[in-house]
Amino acid sequence: MPSVDLHTVSDVIAADDGDWRPGDRWLAGGSYLYSQPQPDVRRLRDLTLLGWPSLRVDDDGVEIAATCTIAELARFTPPAGWTGVGELIRRCCDALLASHKVWNVATVGGNICAALPAGPMTSLAVATGAWCAVDDLAGGRRAVPAVDFVRDVESTVLSDGEYLRSVRLPAEAGRARYAMRRASLFTHGRSAALVVGRADPDTDGWSLSVTAATRRPVLLRLAAGLTEARLREQVDDACAAAGWMDDVHGLPAWRRHRTLRLATEIRAELTAAGPTGGRR
Ligand SMILES: Cc1cc2nc3c(=O)[nH]c(=O)nc-3n(C[C@H](O)[C@H](O)[C@H](O)COP(=O)(O)OP(=O)(O)OC[C@H]3O[C@@H](n4cnc5c(N)ncnc54)[C@H](O)[C@@H]3O)c2cc1C
Repeated sequence: MPSVDLHTVSDVIAADDGDWRPGDRWLAGGSYLYSQPQPDVRRLRDLTLLGWPSLRVDDDGVEIAATCTIAELARFTPPAGWTGVGELIRRCCDALLASHKVWNVATVGGNICAALPAGPMTSLAVATGAWCAVDDLAGGRRAVPAVDFVRDVESTVLSDGEYLRSVRLPAEAGRARYAMRRASLFTHGRSAALVVGRADPDTDGWSLSVTAATRRPVLLRLAAGLTEARLREQVDDACAAAGWMDDVHGLPAWRRHRTLRLATEIRAELTAAGPTGGRR
């Protein structure tokens, strides 16, 4: 689906073909890669040729291959009992405001690795407490908590020669309850703030994740009974530390206003329905 000629690219090879060279770049769906000039890229290493199964369910949770497309994930029927997370998955897929073409080629891994603040697969992974499996060409693997994977706008923890192999949603993610809110300047615009609350049935606590509004994801583990004022303070401090995002999709002050409001709404929703035990 190229819309830009990548005239510096001399080869497209299988992802695991030989050693990493300067100018190499991983290729998944290509929807981001082909959408703008890439003057430093010489070879594309195609991950989709490796034939990874897109989705695998086992006793420990769900493994989503990096090459699973957004369309495949949106069609996924989660295991019995994963009702809350099933709805969250669908809403995060919908938050990628993409054309039919992009929807069918864009991958979960490509979305996370592009490291755009409005990456809804990053939002999903962070909110569910997922782990990222990072592989290298020598056969090594390390596990990185999803909240630590994106470091800044278009920057991740990956070193040269490392790629995201999969994202694992742990079994606890399936038992949790979620509340999600999204703000955008336009009805069908890119996310300017995406906030997800998660109430954990195994403990009294809950967590809140913020993406899109900040330069990197924010995840707060919160005590049951947290007051609204204290919640706003904690969210404000954590988001300021991550850096409020400033681009055409929203000014920092507006993103801050919307994020704090969405966090308050989420607290009210989770408190009304369950065990977070908050006082208003
Ligand atoms: C119309 C349109 C709307 C869009 N809307 C959004 C939006 O709302 N939010 C958003 O975040 N993005 C959006 N995008 C950008 C992009 O389409 C998505 O981020 C998409 O999910 C990227 O996935 P991909 O598989 O096409 O990635 P690619 O374009 O193939 O790759 C993206 C980047 O990640 C790297 N990469 C890919 N897979 C891996 C891997 N497994 N390991 C290591 N590195 C990897 C590539 O080298 C590249 O740098 C939009 C694009 C278009 C054209």
